Amino acid sequence: MSLKKRQLSTLKEKILSEKERILNAFDEAGEERFHLSTEDRLDEVDQATSEYERSQMLRFRNRDLFYVKKLNKALEKIASEEYGVCEDCDSTIKFERLMARPTAELCISCKDEAEREEQANFVTRQSKSMGKKIDLVGAR
Ligand SMILES: [Zn+2]
Repeated sequence: MSLKKRQLSTLKEKILSEKERILNAFDEAGEERFHLSTEDRLDEVDQATSEYERSQMLRFRNRDLFYVKKLNKALEKIASEEYGVCEDCDSTIKFERLMARPTAELCISCKDEAEREEQANFVTRQSKSMGKKIDLVGAR
C-alpha cells in the first residue's frame, strides 16, 4: 500500500513551503546583522557580544540548513518515487506521519527503535559537554 498521487502532491507542497519559510528567515536574519554591523562602531565588549551572537546564529543556521538538506532529499525521493518508504524495513510510511514530519525516513516502529538508541547517545553526549563546561571554569 503506497501513497496516493494526491497525497504525494500535498506532501510535496508542504515540503516546498517549509523550505521557503526557512530560506526567507535566513534572508531577514542576514539583513538585520548587516545593518547592525555597519551602523554601530563596536567597542571590545560589544565585539565579544556580537561574536557570541554570531556563533549562536551559526548554530541556528546549521540546524536549519540541516533541515533544508533533509527537505531537499525528500524532494529528490518524491522525484524518483522512493518517497514515503521506510529506509530500514521498506514498508510504506503512513501519510499522517509524513504530514506531521515530511522528512521522515523511517516508519513509526523503526523510528521508535532508533529514538531509543538516540536517547542513549544523547545522554552520553550531554554528560560529555557538561564535563567540558566544568573544565573551562576550572581553567580560569
Ligand atoms: Zn520501518
